[in-house]
Amino acid sequence: MTTEQASTEEEWERAVKLLAGASEICLACHVRPDGDALGSMLAVAHALGARCGAPGTSPAPASIIASFGDRPFEVPRILKFLPGTDLLSPPEAFPERPQVMVTFDAASPDRLGLLEASAAAADELIVLDHHASNTRFGTVNLIDDMAAATAVLAFELVGRLGVELSRDIALGLYAGLVTDTGSFKYSNTSAGVHELAARLLQTGIEPGAVAHELWDRSPFGFLGMLSAVLGRARLEPDAAAGNGLVWTTVTRGDRAAEGLPYEAAESVIDVVRRADEADVAVVLKEDDDGCWQVSARSKGQTDVGRACVALGGGGHRLAAGFTASGPASDVIAALCRQLAIVAAPAGGR
Ligand code: 5GP
Ligand code: MN
Repeated sequence: MTTEQASTEEEWERAVKLLAGASEICLACHVRPDGDALGSMLAVAHALGARCGAPGTSPAPASIIASFGDRPFEVPRILKFLPGTDLLSPPEAFPERPQVMVTFDAASPDRLGLLEASAAAADELIVLDHHASNTRFGTVNLIDDMAAATAVLAFELVGRLGVELSRDIALGLYAGLVTDTGSFKYSNTSAGVHELAARLLQTGIEPGAVAHELWDRSPFGFLGMLSAVLGRARLEPDAAAGNGLVWTTVTRGDRAAEGLPYEAAESVIDVVRRADEADVAVVLKEDDDGCWQVSARSKGQTDVGRACVALGGGGHRLAAGFTASGPASDVIAALCRQLAIVAAPAGGR
């Protein structure tokens, strides 16, 4: 066993011990949660609930609070099918000083939004995450940047809690796994990912129904919005050291015209990134406060994670993001300066 493996084993054991001894456990995932953040958190919430009274746990069942730090507090429409969303509490109901707190899929404390202060004040903070950019802000850090999703680590935690995999737990974990692998399309899809998927499907969850909820439905107005934002997409062949950039914006006006919430902008990147001529795809999504939530993707030549970290954000090498304000052209210009630094010279493909 290497030293690194040994220290990780120690961290897992500490996490399980803390969770076993706590009378109250507070769970938080990152703001504007995606399937990995919310799915992993709800899976662990179900597991902690099922475990109460099991050998080694405290005699009285621990109370479990699960939330994320958005105001207004709303579960994204595409995630409402996840079991347990009715058990979520708004951030106002979250303890200011949790005894034991667990964070999911958050690479840094600011990703917790309104719950950042609770994380800073928590007696013990268990950080469960798979971002290479994670700042290791917990008292226990369960971080593996080789994991395809936080759900992979949540599965490990569920197993270590000694809880049997139920359908509800599996559904949350599966939502996380398919979200972060783009439905087993991205390069983080491995044999291990498929093995985990098989294990989860054995509980009886329906992959077709999950895919339909996550990707294959929208209100009709989405089509009009997509047409407008794709119509103004720009291709910059010289950007990212000649590897090319394709980008567009989704403004509040685009959404208001069709009566769409912010989350309707999230899937636009998956269409924009199709453009063969560009290694990098970027979508600037204006949120309800007028800030740009920027999504960046690379097909392999550009470390967009590094570029986004340099601009105050985070993420992975091929999928990352940051938050910015000001004119869209300024945000793209600042990003292009970073992309020029981190991209491999064109022609190396
Ligand atoms: P997405 O584009 O799907 O929102 O996010 C892609 C990746 O970048 C995810 O791993 C997400 O956690 C990360 N990310 C997106 N936006 C931000 C941001 O504003 N700050 C940080 N630190 N990470 C972000
Ligand atoms: Mn994730």
